[in-house]
Amino acid sequence: MDDRMFRNAMGKFATGVTVITTELDGEVHGMTANAFMSVSLNPKLVVISIGEKAKMLNKINESKKFAVNILADEQKEVSMMFAGQIKEKRDIEFDRLGDLPVIKDSLANISCKVYSQHVEGDHTLFIGEVTDIVLRDGEPLAFYEGKYREIAKLVDVN
Ligand code: FAD
Ligand code: NAD
Repeated sequence: MDDRMFRNAMGKFATGVTVITTELDGEVHGMTANAFMSVSLNPKLVVISIGEKAKMLNKINESKKFAVNILADEQKEVSMMFAGQIKEKRDIEFDRLGDLPVIKDSLANISCKVYSQHVEGDHTLFIGEVTDIVLRDGEPLAFYEGKYREIAKLVDVN
């Protein structure tokens, strides 16, 4: 099967957008990711999926910890920056959550220590055990059919 067909199919699954952050030897690294899922309540586990070419892979392999920052609708530029879609280098001021750097003004900052990891195809799945959470009110940034989206109005359908 052709890659484009696979990506088009996966792109039909509307997701939020996160920036994964970690710190190694005092240096902060961030990367935009939409492959994020809640895994278990007891213990509290989440999963992220990091491509084999991403610099983030070795960073988390060594630091053994990461934070998931769920972005708000006004943070599209933040997502573009940490996906390498904006080229000029910018100085970012990070907040802290325990021993991890986190993105300011996110809807959620979730700090994790690596619980297990699994190489699957060209990605590594990191299962993270959640150590701390900070929440804020706001509307989510969304990603659908390869494009950033805003959910115009959150409507309850139940
Ligand atoms: P780089 O490409 O070097 O870094 C990413 C960018 O962040 C660079 O522009 C860098 O300058 C900047 N940056 C990093 N740290 C800092 C810092 N401390 N201060 C300032 N700037 C900094 N890939 C996956 O593997 N899994 C996914 O789930 C995933 N989901 C994605 C979802 C979306 C919506 C998009 C747009 C991309 C996604 N990607 C995903 C692709 C991934 O974001 C890019 O390939 C990314 O460039 C990989 O980052 P890297 O770790 O290789 O580091
Ligand atoms: P796209 O059309 O490539 O993405 C649509 C969907 O396809 C994504 O939401 C994701 O579920 C899937 N996908 C895309 N690339 C993938 C990959 N290398 N491995 C596994 N699944 C993948 O959208 P786009 O705007 O062209 O994406 C921007 C860039 O970000 C591309 O280079 C893309 O490869 C990368 N990206 C990577 C992942 C990932 O590695 N999991 C996820 C999203 C985007």
